Amino acid sequence: SKKTGRNHATFYGTKGMEREDEALRMELLLKEAMKKEEFSLVYQPQVELLSGKITGVEALLRWHSQELGTVPPNQFIKVAEDSGLIIELGNWVTKKALSDLAKWNQLGYQLEMSVNISTHQFYHPEFLLCLERMIKDEKVPPSQLVLEITESIASHAEVVQKELQKIKELGLKVAIDDFGTGYSSLKYLKDFPIDYLKIDKSFVDGIEEDDKSRDIVSTIITLAHNLGMLTVAEGAETRKQVDFLKMEGCDSVQGYYYGKPMTEASLLDFLTVYEPH
Ligand code: C2E
Ligand code: CA
Ligand code: CA
Ligand code: CA
Repeated sequence: SKKTGRNHATFYGTKGMEREDEALRMELLLKEAMKKEEFSLVYQPQVELLSGKITGVEALLRWHSQELGTVPPNQFIKVAEDSGLIIELGNWVTKKALSDLAKWNQLGYQLEMSVNISTHQFYHPEFLLCLERMIKDEKVPPSQLVLEITESIASHAEVVQKELQKIKELGLKVAIDDFGTGYSSLKYLKDFPIDYLKIDKSFVDGIEEDDKSRDIVSTIITLAHNLGMLTVAEGAETRKQVDFLKMEGCDSVQGYYYGKPMTEASLLDFLTVYEPH
């Protein structure tokens, strides 16, 4: 009957409802988090394999919520994107990252700064204008900033190509994040001006375990090099993985093997004691 149908709907709807409530609560807390200064950035070193030197860092967002404790970005970024908060939050990330970069430049370190750009930010009409302004304000060379975008961005190929062209004109660099996990075709690699391919951690994880992962990793490296791009391997944790990546000619590595994401203060300590290896 009509009545049981409704009851069923309510019954099956409960879980979804809870999830919705949770997302709503998180959204409200995220909005306050900005004012309460609960966000911070940590930096993970990127090591150039040929020289063993630290040539860059990736800025990673952290949220220490008074109410929820530490919430991992994989949980709150989606909520920030769906609610539109990612625009303000993303701007905060870039601003903070650039201001730290300016400080490091003054201390004599020459690092590249990689920042994650969500698709929502990329498509925002004022994205480039904001970016340009922040770079000027912080007085850092644009070539030190790397925008990490994912393959999912390529769904509007023509818009993306124009936007990327402008990004290149500004002198910035572009990396494709989580490469190999998205749905897009190889066509955009040919058309888009890309500096780095970041080999996804899932392939790096498999280096010691299976031939297929090793084959995929070497194929991505060859592909990137043939197209004039550099490769960064994500999430290397062991010596064996790093040795394989070196042997295959991978350009850089970012992973726990060299260093976990760390606070700005810890990074500065890390840079002073670090020896190429
Ligand atoms: P991602 O961009 O792929 O970042 C790399 C993630 O892998 C980071 O997780 C990093 O801590 C982790 N990682 C790096 N090396 C290793 C390793 O050797 N072992 C293991 N187990 N993990 C490693 P994190 O910081 O939790 O960030 C997760 C994701 O959240 C990021 O993945 C990125 O997609 C997103 N994210 C983080 N910060 C931002 C941000 O400021 N803006 C946007 N839009 N997204 C962000
Ligand atoms: Ca990234
Ligand atoms: Ca990844
Ligand atoms: Ca990612």
